[in-house]
Amino acid sequence: MDFPPYPSGLRLAGRRVLVVGGGNVAQRRVPQLIAVGADVHVVSPVVTPAIEGLVGSGEITWHRRRFDDADLDGAWYVIAVTDDAAVNDRISELADQQRIFCVRSDDATRGTAWTPAVGRHAGVTVAVLGNREPRRSAALRDEILEAIRDGSIAASHHRDHTPGVTLVGGGPGDPDLMSIAGRRALMEADVVVADRLAPRELLGELPSDVELIDVAKLPRGRSAQQAEINRVIVDRALAGKRVVRFKGGDNFVFGRGYEEIIACREAGVPVTVIPGLTSPIAVPAIAGIPVTHRGVTHEFTIVSGHLPPGHPESLVDYSALARMRGTVIVMMGVENSAAIAEALVAGGRKPGTPVAVVCDGTMPTQRTVLSTLGTLAASVADESVQPPAIIVIGDVVRVAFPEAFPTQD
Ligand code: SAH
Repeated sequence: MDFPPYPSGLRLAGRRVLVVGGGNVAQRRVPQLIAVGADVHVVSPVVTPAIEGLVGSGEITWHRRRFDDADLDGAWYVIAVTDDAAVNDRISELADQQRIFCVRSDDATRGTAWTPAVGRHAGVTVAVLGNREPRRSAALRDEILEAIRDGSIAASHHRDHTPGVTLVGGGPGDPDLMSIAGRRALMEADVVVADRLAPRELLGELPSDVELIDVAKLPRGRSAQQAEINRVIVDRALAGKRVVRFKGGDNFVFGRGYEEIIACREAGVPVTVIPGLTSPIAVPAIAGIPVTHRGVTHEFTIVSGHLPPGHPESLVDYSALARMRGTVIVMMGVENSAAIAEALVAGGRKPGTPVAVVCDGTMPTQRTVLSTLGTLAASVADESVQPPAIIVIGDVVRVAFPEAFPTQD
């Protein structure tokens, strides 16, 4: 009879694990062994560059030679992944004699242990052992992990309930562009304070008992609104709740995140930060525009265009920006785009400098409007460009759309 394997979580930290072979299979196994703290010894005349890198960084020991019977001395676990079946035979035979569990990549039936498809999330290890169907096991593992990540299997009565505030950056809009840590924080929250630009689809997935506070519905006026947000997150945390402050992009990039940190600190509320993909880099990337390109620019500058150039409260030095040579990325700049283009040209940037305005990044309505510094104002008006939009100025736009900007000035 063909019995199923007995699953067991091996605690290999500091214990000698022998990997015989240095090819692609070894390369897949070794990082998993390092992740659990094993004392990994690779025996092989040659290894892949990736394995060699792990040797270089001191994470594993490489014995640069063929297998020797004595290699098994002191090992707790052995993985035989050479491309020579006779050598693998010898290893598993010796391992059997010495009662060391042995995984065989070439013929699993002849090993005494199988490697499950493994993944981890939120301190939980998921391991799936299929009946020698590795692709199916991996697919099942992925589905289980995904379900844990998106909260559809949450064991919610067991989730972490330590009170405090977590600032979560939601990325440019598409929920797939959010970090795993961010998703987890969201799923473990008691209260979610969400912004207009945060990935809204995810809010629909929140468990029904989560209190959702929509900042877009708070009273208008920038400072009043921020004071109210600070008050709400602090109050809820002091009442013992886990609060997520959920924003588009990254909370520290024109997101007033640090004001919230200060408010929490003053109230003695613990606060943590989970960064997000910030739109001035991610939105151009999604539109196919690199913010840097070798030989084209060695700098990019992200500025807020919410105040026009010359405004007494503006902290942007447009003449300095004009004198620099790299990419300029303007956020919140649609309204003031004409004045911004004018200031850059006045400061010395060429009117023919390529410009891309990327609107509604990652949303179904996403579009890119191309122009130059000289024609930006007209094209914003003609195309009825509305926020949210990212304005990318510089030769990287030509790199992405060479046919639209054939000349070099
Ligand atoms: N904290 C956010 C930015 C907030 S300021 C971040 O890190 O991305 C708001 C500005 O961000 C908008 O006016 C627009 O310029 C930009 N923005 C954010 N999301 C965007 C998107 N999906 N598409 C285009 N622009 C976006």
